[in-house]
Amino acid sequence: MIGNEFVCRVPIDFIENKFNLTGLEYLKDTMNVVLEPLFDRSVAWVSGYEEKLYGMIHARYIMSARGVEDMRLKYLMGDFGSCPKFYCKGQKALPVGLSDKWGQSKVKIYCPSCKDVFRPKYRPKLDGAMFGTSFPHLFFMQFPMLRPQPPVEKYVPRIHGFRLHESALMPLESSETSSETSTEDIGSTSSPSSCPN
Ligand SMILES: [Zn+2]
Repeated sequence: MIGNEFVCRVPIDFIENKFNLTGLEYLKDTMNVVLEPLFDRSVAWVSGYEEKLYGMIHARYIMSARGVEDMRLKYLMGDFGSCPKFYCKGQKALPVGLSDKWGQSKVKIYCPSCKDVFRPKYRPKLDGAMFGTSFPHLFFMQFPMLRPQPPVEKYVPRIHGFRLHESALMPLESSETSSETSTEDIGSTSSPSSCPN
């Protein structure tokens, strides 16, 4: 399934260690499913409690010494895709969540060069909480030598070679927008306040 390359296989002994599960609520039955030898390979995602429990354990695992090393290898292989910005020149990305709570949003990718987040190219249906909000930042604290330079070039908007003034790039203010539409598109009969947006 597309997106599985984002996920590390959490070793069974990590899951069985109660210390690693502190604070996670789960039922014994759910844990039994997660511990089945075939479970974490069929990440075609058993939905529901098992997915959530495994996902939350995964978020902890990738912060552990073994897990962060697994993620380093995946990062170097380019498993998480690359920054779509032209001037980032294909900088490899890391997965990140926009929330540490389950069910808030799907995984995003973080570019360590421009320090922005993007939708992954193939939109894996993985919950962002499987990776968490801190992961890429802790990753580069562990491996500061892997941190890339910021992009050296930046796009400069020009017309016939001349740079545009900042003010030419600003959106119209909302009052101007509605008066524009009322005169140009709708005519003088309708009032600006009735325009949507
Ligand atoms: Zn970038």
